[in-house]
Amino acid sequence: MTKTFLTIASIFSFSILLAQNSTGYWQQHVDYEMEIDFDAKDYQYDGSQVLEYTNNSPDTLDRVFYHMYFNAFQPGSEMDVRSRTIEDPDSRVGDRISKLSDEEIGFMRAKTLQQDGKELNFKLVGTVLEVELNEPILPGKSSTFKMDFEGQVPVQIRRSGRNNAEGVELSMTQWYPKMAEYDFEGWHADPYIGREFHGVWGNFDVKISIDKDFILGGTGYIQNPNEVGYGYEDEGEKVRRRGKKLTWHFNAPNVHDFAWAADKDYIHDKITGKDGTTLHFLYKDNKEIIENWKNLQSKTSDLLDFFNEHIGPYPYDQYSVIQGGDGGMEYAMCTLITGEREFGSLVGVTAHEMAHSWFQHILATDEAQHEWMDEGFTSYISSLAMNEVMDQNRENVFAGTYRGYTSLANSGFEQPQTTHADRYEYNSAYGVTAYSKGSVFLAQLGYLIGQENLDNTLNRYFDEWKFKHPTPNDFIRIAEKVSGAELSWYLNDWTRTTNTIDYAIKGVSVEPGTTIVTLERVALTPMPIEVKVDFKGGTSETYYIPLRIMRWTKPGATNIQEDWAWAFPTYTLEIPSPQYGVEKIEIDPSGLMADVNRENNVKVLNE
Ligand SMILES: [Zn+2]
Repeated sequence: MTKTFLTIASIFSFSILLAQNSTGYWQQHVDYEMEIDFDAKDYQYDGSQVLEYTNNSPDTLDRVFYHMYFNAFQPGSEMDVRSRTIEDPDSRVGDRISKLSDEEIGFMRAKTLQQDGKELNFKLVGTVLEVELNEPILPGKSSTFKMDFEGQVPVQIRRSGRNNAEGVELSMTQWYPKMAEYDFEGWHADPYIGREFHGVWGNFDVKISIDKDFILGGTGYIQNPNEVGYGYEDEGEKVRRRGKKLTWHFNAPNVHDFAWAADKDYIHDKITGKDGTTLHFLYKDNKEIIENWKNLQSKTSDLLDFFNEHIGPYPYDQYSVIQGGDGGMEYAMCTLITGEREFGSLVGVTAHEMAHSWFQHILATDEAQHEWMDEGFTSYISSLAMNEVMDQNRENVFAGTYRGYTSLANSGFEQPQTTHADRYEYNSAYGVTAYSKGSVFLAQLGYLIGQENLDNTLNRYFDEWKFKHPTPNDFIRIAEKVSGAELSWYLNDWTRTTNTIDYAIKGVSVEPGTTIVTLERVALTPMPIEVKVDFKGGTSETYYIPLRIMRWTKPGATNIQEDWAWAFPTYTLEIPSPQYGVEKIEIDPSGLMADVNRENNVKVLNE
């Protein structure tokens, strides 16, 4: 069976599953057809978009909203003002938007908009187009929207834009009028201030006409490879490009975003991964970077294998690593990354962005609200992948990640992970909260339920939630079902509060044949406790103290004690001691419990 057949089969079974879903889950559906006429001289384009929107919600919709992201790149926009008023602005943005001329700004404007053939009234408010419908869309019904629009590609400042720092001419992301998501929480017509994205699942058919010397890469399969060539053509095919412009025809099934990039000096390589996925690499013909980009290719294939095994099988036939953008950003079936990097950094950014194919582009959490699921899970899995693919052999892959979280937790500037991605007081606090604390959420879940249960949780999460919008509760319910432990308290304390973990050894008293250890819960967040005791003479034992509210014991735990009820600040652990006595006692020798003060975790006994 080909991979395409499998993909179609899984989409088909997915729609049956939706119909039979007993949890009440539903999601909207879009089918985009777009034709773009690009004027590379002025960096402007005209587009026509036919969007068939299906309302699978139980609600009648009388409004819809489109994201018009490029309007963020104008002096006085929310993105501009926020960047000039936040304490620690992104250095890529700073005050640069405020200084853009009319020729340098970005814009995205609707010229006409119709619903089922009738003109609609609409209003552009910043980066959002607000649309009042003539006819409400009833539950289970579809409506066809037709929009003519025009856009201007901004000077590259953040993510998208023209002429990035490495000379890539077009990074075309967040570039088209995009229907906002409506889900069980209602509309998500978030303005584009800094981050993040949430989109409607659907199919994209996109035709881009552009000067024929541009080489494109992006989301979707090229439908006319023998007309465009540049390495996309069938083997042995002679490609003739007539006329001034060339039309690139893309088709992307079952995605929630569409991105592309274009440059005249791209080298385009492709290799086939073990699972049959074609991996495309588009990078500048710059002798400084070519060797790294060649060496990146087999590493990308290894990364694909790692994610396939540890999360779930990549469902598309193609993935493209494209030089562009301003760092690294994930898109459906592709990423745009900057390419003038040390080799380790090049593989690292590819690992991270590629992992987002799973944690965002297949398991599509609302990144604006649950940024820790998107960035944190991605950081977790890409750290493990890098350790394997780059033979790093690190003892605790997450040691630095935990240090990052701990220093934020102790700083006084932490906000809960439920904070909207744009609503952090400091960009740096967002970064640590989403990436580090989100990654610790999973690594620490491994501490709570065991690595095998965590691995199985990720696989089952993929199986049950691929091509949907999972929420934090959906994830923790899978972990509960896989492990049997009660875990809602963990989701609550870790993600919805800034409570911390601090357990201490309060005192030790030695009696004949027994060492009595008084443990103390200093901070608010509960945890099951593992205590390692080293005996004089070289032996050691690990004692496991279950947490009462988990109603559960970790598989493989040794010396299982009475459980510890959270409300009790202290706990007495009695250690039967051999003749020579105890040398050292340590809470959490694994380092996987995110204790914010480890100094009180260890007691070395004299004599
Ligand atoms: Zn990321």
